[in-house]
Amino acid sequence: MSVLQDLLEALRTRCVEVIDLTAPLHSGTPVLRLPEPFANTIPFGLEEISRYDERGPAWYWNDIHTGEHTGTHFDAPVHWVTGKDGQDISQVPPDRLVAPAVVLDFSAESAKNPDFLLEISHVRAWEAEHGSLPDGGWLLYRTGWDARSEDAAQFVNADESGPHTPGISVECARWLAEETSLLGVGVETVGTDAGGAHSFDPPFPCHSFLLGAGKYGLTQLQNLARLPATGAVVIAGPLPIVGGSGSPARVLALVENA
Ligand code: MN
Repeated sequence: MSVLQDLLEALRTRCVEVIDLTAPLHSGTPVLRLPEPFANTIPFGLEEISRYDERGPAWYWNDIHTGEHTGTHFDAPVHWVTGKDGQDISQVPPDRLVAPAVVLDFSAESAKNPDFLLEISHVRAWEAEHGSLPDGGWLLYRTGWDARSEDAAQFVNADESGPHTPGISVECARWLAEETSLLGVGVETVGTDAGGAHSFDPPFPCHSFLLGAGKYGLTQLQNLARLPATGAVVIAGPLPIVGGSGSPARVLALVENA
């Protein structure tokens, strides 16, 4: 049998399972809120065109209003000034959209400390147990934050000092960008950077270093708890918006059942 026939048979017999890593997209989906004087994105919205009525008796359809960086979405290099000469979202090669993924689980640490930062030492310790980070693959950073994704206030977790959500340290972001052959980093939070990353040096180091290195970001992922530490294959489907800096994406994982 061919490899693809084998895959279809494995899917039919549930030897390979499809896990949806995508958050449902609706008007309450949390979006990033930047402080003054910065401009902000709009919430997701549906605008009805017709619904089996005089505007269209047999059909229902909507226009959608959305930002590129709304809900589960894909960050292209051109999203950040450090990657401004890099790929826009339509230029991401399709063969990069199917890639291996590993999951680093720091949900316990993030539950204790919402400002938890992933350090190089954490990744090195993970590699000692599970092997090297995947060449051309995703590092998926599990923090348990997906449990908050239907409550915008809990998800952003802001107080008078700003948002408090887990992320990646400046040194670790630089190292992942420059010293590894990762395809990119995926997170459960509203963006790839920590809630407090506006005050880091440089600010928003994941965006700055990873997108500057031509790598990608995936955000607001769910169900990472259902993936193995190694061995999953991620299929990420951003829209090919010409000139776009990112896109809402359907993100699926293929996992092998033992
Ligand atoms: Mn983004």
